[in-house]
Amino acid sequence: MKTLAYAAQKAGAELATFSIDRREPSETDVVIDILFCGICHSDLHQLKDEWGGATFPMVPGHEIVGRVKHAGKAVTKFKTGDLVGVGCMVDSCRACRQCDEHHEQFCEKGCAYTYNGTAMDRTTRTFGGYSKQVVVTESFVLRIPDSLDPASAAPLLCAGVTTWSPLRQWGCKKGDRVGVVGLGGLGHMAVKLAASMGAEVTMLSTSTAKEADARRLGATEFAVTRDPNTFKRLAGTFDLLIDTISAEHDVAAHLGLLKPFGTMVLLGVPPKPSAIGAFSLIGGNKRLVGSLIGGIKETQEMLDYCGKHGIVSDVEVIAMKDANASFERMLKGDVRYRFVLDLSTLT
Ligand code: NAP
Ligand code: ZN
Ligand code: ZN
Repeated sequence: MKTLAYAAQKAGAELATFSIDRREPSETDVVIDILFCGICHSDLHQLKDEWGGATFPMVPGHEIVGRVKHAGKAVTKFKTGDLVGVGCMVDSCRACRQCDEHHEQFCEKGCAYTYNGTAMDRTTRTFGGYSKQVVVTESFVLRIPDSLDPASAAPLLCAGVTTWSPLRQWGCKKGDRVGVVGLGGLGHMAVKLAASMGAEVTMLSTSTAKEADARRLGATEFAVTRDPNTFKRLAGTFDLLIDTISAEHDVAAHLGLLKPFGTMVLLGVPPKPSAIGAFSLIGGNKRLVGSLIGGIKETQEMLDYCGKHGIVSDVEVIAMKDANASFERMLKGDVRYRFVLDLSTLT
C-alpha cells in the first residue's frame, strides 16, 4: 500500500515528500487516515542523528491522531470512523514479563518504535506519522475521547503520556511542590497535568518570556534558571522535579532544589551526558530517576483522564511545507507549545 509521507533522506537533511509502503492490513490491523501529527523534540534529535544509530530515509512522527479507515475482521475495539491515536510504539512481543505488566516500552525483545525502528520481524522498517496513512495492530491503537479537539489531542500521545507516567509513578498529589524545568511541549503538559492533580507547580524556565503562559497553564510560581539566585532562593523546596530540557544543562545544580527524599525525573535527552557529584544525591537521600514514555494501558488511562478533565495541548497547527522551519523555531525555544502538522496539507 503506497502512502505519501514527509521524509529526510540522510541525517540533517530537510524533509521532503516521499512515497512509502505500508503493509497490507491483516485481520487484527487497523488502517488509519492520519489527520494530525505533533512534532516532538525527539523527532529533531533523531533527524539529526544526535543519539546515534538513526536509519534513513526517516519519516518521523509519533503523536498521531486520525480516523479509522478500515478495521480488520478480527478487530474488536475499533470500527470505521472512530477517532484514534498512535504514540511512540506500534508493537511489542506481548509475551514477556514487561509486556505482561503493561510496560511494552521495556519489552524484553525490544518494542517496535513507530519510526526509526523495525517491526517485530526486526526487518521491516517503521515509518512515522508525517504521512497520510498508517497500519497498526489494534493492541497499539488508542481511543481518543470524542470530547477532545483532534489536533490538540495529538501531543498527548507522546508529551502527554511521558509527563503523566512519572507524575503517577512518583505519587504526585494535592499540595505536593512540583517543579517543571523547561517550558516546551513536554513541560507545558507537565504543568497542566501536575496542576490538575492538585500540586503546587513552579515553572523553571530560562527567561521570563513565558511567565504569563506558565501561570495560565496552572503554575503558581515562576523562576528563571539563568539567574543563579534562583538556585539559592528555591534550594530544598521541591518534592518532585520534572526535567524536560532538551539541551546540555547542570543537572547537579537542579538536585539542590529538592527537599530531602525528593525525586528528580529526567525526561529530556540531551545528546551529551551530565556530570553529577555523589554529594548532590547523598546530602538529603535524593533520587535521580529517568522515565521513558509510558505503556499502552497507561496511555489510554491518561487519554481518558484528559477527556474527563478537558486537558489538551496548546498547539500551533502548521502546514507540511512549514515543518522544516518549525524545527528552527523549536531549537530557539520558540514553540507555544507544540507544533502539530495538518496532514490534509500533504499533497
Ligand atoms: P521542546 O518543546 O523543544 O522543549 C524543550 C524546552 O527545554 C525548551 O522549551 C526550553 O524551555 C528548554 N531548553 C532548551 N534548550 C535549553 C538550554 N540550553 N538550557 C536550558 N533549557 C533549555 O522539547 P520537547 O518536545 O518538550 O522535548 C524535550 C526533551 O524530552 C527532548 O530532549 C526530547 O527528546 C525528550 N523526550 C523524552 C521522552 C521520554 O520518554 N523520556 C519523550 C519525549 C521527548 P524554556 O524556554 O522554558 O527555557
Ligand atoms: Zn516524543
Ligand atoms: Zn515483550
